[in-house]
Amino acid sequence: RAPISPADSLVHALRTAPADRTALAYFDGRISYAELDELTDSVAGHLAARGLARGDRVAILLQNSPHFVLALLGAWKAGATVVPVNPMYKSGEVTHVLKDAEVTALVCSDRAWESYLRETAADSPVRIVLTACELDLQTRDDARVLAFERLDSAPDADDLLTVARQAHKAPEGRDPAPSDIALISYTSGTSGTPKGATNTHGNIMYNAERQRTGMGLPEAPVYFALAPLFHITGMVCELVACLISGGTLVLTYRFEPGVVLDAFAEHRPHYTVGPSTAFMALAAHPAVTPDHFSSFHKISSGGAPVPPALVEKFRAGFGPYIRNGYGLTECTAPCASVPPDHEAPVDPVSGTLAVGVPGPDTVVRIVDDQGEEVPFGEQGEIVVRGPQVVPGYWRRPEATAETFPDGELRTGDIGFMDPQGWLYVVDRKKDMINASGFKVWPREVEDVLYTHPAVREAAVVGVADGYRGETVKAYISLRPGCDEDPDAFAAYCKERLAAYKYPRQVEILPDLPKTASGKILRRELRSRSHEGQ
Ligand code: ATP
Repeated sequence: RAPISPADSLVHALRTAPADRTALAYFDGRISYAELDELTDSVAGHLAARGLARGDRVAILLQNSPHFVLALLGAWKAGATVVPVNPMYKSGEVTHVLKDAEVTALVCSDRAWESYLRETAADSPVRIVLTACELDLQTRDDARVLAFERLDSAPDADDLLTVARQAHKAPEGRDPAPSDIALISYTSGTSGTPKGATNTHGNIMYNAERQRTGMGLPEAPVYFALAPLFHITGMVCELVACLISGGTLVLTYRFEPGVVLDAFAEHRPHYTVGPSTAFMALAAHPAVTPDHFSSFHKISSGGAPVPPALVEKFRAGFGPYIRNGYGLTECTAPCASVPPDHEAPVDPVSGTLAVGVPGPDTVVRIVDDQGEEVPFGEQGEIVVRGPQVVPGYWRRPEATAETFPDGELRTGDIGFMDPQGWLYVVDRKKDMINASGFKVWPREVEDVLYTHPAVREAAVVGVADGYRGETVKAYISLRPGCDEDPDAFAAYCKERLAAYKYPRQVEILPDLPKTASGKILRRELRSRSHEGQ
């Protein structure tokens, strides 16, 4: 029968791919499909033997390592709901998630367990703990870990790899239904306290299958995991899509441009997806050459705005075309993307790059404040209905009713649609700057800044201004070797934008603050500018 859930589909792939094909590659370490099947059966069997019931929650706080995949597949085989948690979260943030999701089992690094999670988990429902040996990118002796050497654990935790080697049997009869919750994904927090979006197995299956069949990748493709696996884009568009395609997933723990480029050279990946900031960092690395990208069939950028200047600079410098895609945690990663045989148009008026066209069973509408649909070309809020839209937030009926009226997702993003069906994202509704009553969308100003050759990263926010109410401020980080004066950027924008839009204030920073998934945090820059007043 056809697989109906990612858990089911992954098990099917693990058992039908050639047994010795590499499923996971981690520096010099490799795990084959047959090994991954056995190891994850054992993790599932252990969890079940420790009393984990179907639907119980398993939190995973790990970076992009094979351990993450072992924990995820083990938990799904045990019928659990997985709660991926950013391993950079501080104790208070983790406490919120462990309690809110009523987590029964926790998988984390041994170092994090010792340093703060033991104390954090003490005051939570967690009663099963698996720790994974903390990996060390610097010494790269990590392949040793995959050879399953060593492995002591704390007295109050079991070692994940030891458990995985014990040849427990996976419990039977725990196959999830498409409507069961596969993940509770806490939104990455660019807008405040994280809420758990409930991604069902059906939601994930839909988007991962579209990726598998729609990208035109070769058989047994090599994927490079650029986006973090704990974020929905990495989870669905990299991990699940790669393994259900019978491909090899290349992991390098966390994003370090030099390490990533070495891995490109070694593993010759066909596909990757990451935030545009990751491509900017790779393009600015002193060792980068077009050869690093010569194996790629496709590259996608998702989850954050893509400046048109980046797409052009990248193509001119390195060859590949960066394919835009638009999505939210609440729609299980993409709901619109650029079809493989097309390039996204740039709107001639605003200069915005289209994010793509909605998927086949997906309806994207642009509505005004009254919820009425607006004509083509007119701006309004983007709302989405489709098989990837989650049923709601975990145990938040009010927030669910507000964000998903009638099951339709109100994205909080402003956008427009052209008559050919291309969707454009203008900006987040709440990030609009009101300068003397004029609307300024930060994105438009950022897109202009990105055309300046010295700009590596740019973010624009509204800051309080006694005269205009709010005024436009740009934060910029420079490309290596550049030392332009802040005023140069204000003058550059003034030449290219209406007078009320150009940044009256410009500040240069070594780096802009970002979320763990690589998005620039305008919220943090706004508070920085408040503090400076
Ligand atoms: P929070 O929901 O807590 O604010 P977050 O918004 O970063 O966190 P995600 O679900 O990861 O959580 O991000 C979705 C948002 O990212 C979208 O609402 C949109 O604003 C932005 N986004 C995603 N893809 C694109 C794109 N291609 N172009 C422009 N913006 C995008």
